[in-house]
Amino acid sequence: MIKNHMENLVDSILCEVINSYDICKCNDCLNDIKSISLNNLPSMYFLSNASQAEKTAFLLDRQRRISVLAKVVESIELVRKNSHNNVR
Ligand SMILES: [Zn+2]
Repeated sequence: MIKNHMENLVDSILCEVINSYDICKCNDCLNDIKSISLNNLPSMYFLSNASQAEKTAFLLDRQRRISVLAKVVESIELVRKNSHNNVR
């Protein structure tokens, strides 16, 4: 089965930062944050001959983590503004 590795990266970064934000953390909101982030990031699929080292290097690349983090934070802000838990 093919897999978008950008999704793993967004997952791991979201887990690291989510607790610093005072937002709703239900599954819907977390999925929305992930979906918005992934819509704004390139997909990353590895070919069958890619090594585990290449995949790990992708996940740990410092510059990439910084740009993904920026998208994740933007998405958190968007979801926070539109949160179903907001009293309007
Ligand atoms: Zn929620």
